[in-house]
Amino acid sequence: MANQHQVKAKKHLGQHFLEDENVAQDIAVSLSFKGYDHVLEIGPGMGVLTKYLLKKETTLHVIEIDTESVDYLKNNYLHLADRIIEKDFLKYDLNLVFEDQPFAIIGNFPYNISSQILFKTLELRHQIPEFSGMFQKEVAKRICSKEGSKVYGILSVLTQAFYDAEYLFTVPPTVFNPPPKVDSGVLLLKRKENFSLPCDEKLFFRVVKTGFQQRRKTLRNSLKTFNLSDNLKANIIFGQRPEQLSVSQFIELTSLIENDVN
Ligand code: SAH
Repeated sequence: MANQHQVKAKKHLGQHFLEDENVAQDIAVSLSFKGYDHVLEIGPGMGVLTKYLLKKETTLHVIEIDTESVDYLKNNYLHLADRIIEKDFLKYDLNLVFEDQPFAIIGNFPYNISSQILFKTLELRHQIPEFSGMFQKEVAKRICSKEGSKVYGILSVLTQAFYDAEYLFTVPPTVFNPPPKVDSGVLLLKRKENFSLPCDEKLFFRVVKTGFQQRRKTLRNSLKTFNLSDNLKANIIFGQRPEQLSVSQFIELTSLIENDVN
């Protein structure tokens, strides 16, 4: 039983509290809990997912920016108290807690920062073998989409270069308090067995981001800033638009640019 009044939802923190226990449990069990000893929940709020995660043998840590939610968690989940990090996930140096150990990420994310949560995860991919989270449905679908799709973009390519992405299920607004305006979707990422790319990885990020900045243009035009040789630009891959290239073609493109002699 809760021994404190409920947390009042704050819009600027993207707070939409999940009220359906079945959905909470389905999200919590989407991780395999194998291959790592630690799990980090982002934005636990009043702990609807947290209580299922605490049943697992892995050690749970939570990071929550909202003091009122932190107080609620401290009062209701006594054993969790010293594993609550009261910080902004985007700014916090996670190595202070995990050092170089692997950990999984899970959460019903604040939608206003969900893409940034994913970018930070990609930066820390060496430590994060699994990731499960609730996004705005449209964003979750975009992350899993394939080349040729209208919604295929930076997040799709960068994520799928390192992770297998699976859209798990859709969640309607009615199960949240307050209800968001849009449907939500749960996304599961499992890191690929071999997740080091056969090209310069920093350059890969730059090529993908620059390529999609002007998604209607051919790569020959959008990658002008890379100062490529005429010889390379004659390659037919440069006649394509970014949304036509698969992840492995983006890797191939990066290798070509890396080896270009100007
Ligand atoms: N997991 C809870 C709450 C989801 S709402 C549930 O399903 O009911 C999103 C949560 O993320 C809120 O608790 C909000 O305070 C928290 N949050 C928002 N921005 C954050 C940030 N930058 N770092 C950590 N937590 C954040």
